[in-house]
Amino acid sequence: MEKIRVTVWNEFKHEKEMPEVAEIYPDGIHGTIAAFLNKEADIEAGTATLEMPEHGLTEEVLNNTDVLIWWGHCAHHLVSDEIVERVHRRIMDGMGLIVLHSGHASKIFHKICGTTSVDLRWREAGEKEILWAVNPGHPILKGLDSHIIIEHEETYGEHFNIPQPDEQIFISWFEGGEVFRSGCTFTRGKGHIFYFQPGHETFPIYHQPEIQKVITNAVRWAAPAADTPKIVYGHHPDPIIQK
Ligand code: ZN
Repeated sequence: MEKIRVTVWNEFKHEKEMPEVAEIYPDGIHGTIAAFLNKEADIEAGTATLEMPEHGLTEEVLNNTDVLIWWGHCAHHLVSDEIVERVHRRIMDGMGLIVLHSGHASKIFHKICGTTSVDLRWREAGEKEILWAVNPGHPILKGLDSHIIIEHEETYGEHFNIPQPDEQIFISWFEGGEVFRSGCTFTRGKGHIFYFQPGHETFPIYHQPEIQKVITNAVRWAAPAADTPKIVYGHHPDPIIQK
């Protein structure tokens, strides 16, 4: 069986600068995500971080990545435009992208969305969140219940300045009264994109089994289908049907 090749990208700053985050994610958020994905027989996950040469996203790494997962928060501006272009080209060519939590403000997600600022309302109050699954039967929801409860999360609220998603997968309620489109899919070129809101760094959210399940399902959903038809553009002098 061909495995789905995943690269988990993380800016990897909070874990090095904030002991309370390092305690939750001693191997980094990327390390935790790659570890639970690597327990799956059909997935092979590696990691890349901001400080690596070319942010760990060389042509070779991207050409061997079926699905890229993105976590960033305070260092979006340090991601080189050249690498963002490279990632975008691969998405257009079929690589899947999963954008997590504050990755909404990343350069690559802005490019995907095409809006001036992918903004939202937020509050760090450790409030309860309930994610409601609003698209039953969708592959990203496979094996999950009608809702997921996160006891403590950063509150995100509407309006979330994204274009109309292709599909709404989750809508969240937060204890403070906000609602948020917490799981959305988009298509750009041949690439499948999933935005998934949970994952503030000071809470152990990526250790939660249901959250791991959503991300694992999303990897399988976003992976490009094998043997898709070749597309040929441009002048084509010979008619398809010969007289
Ligand atoms: Zn956050």
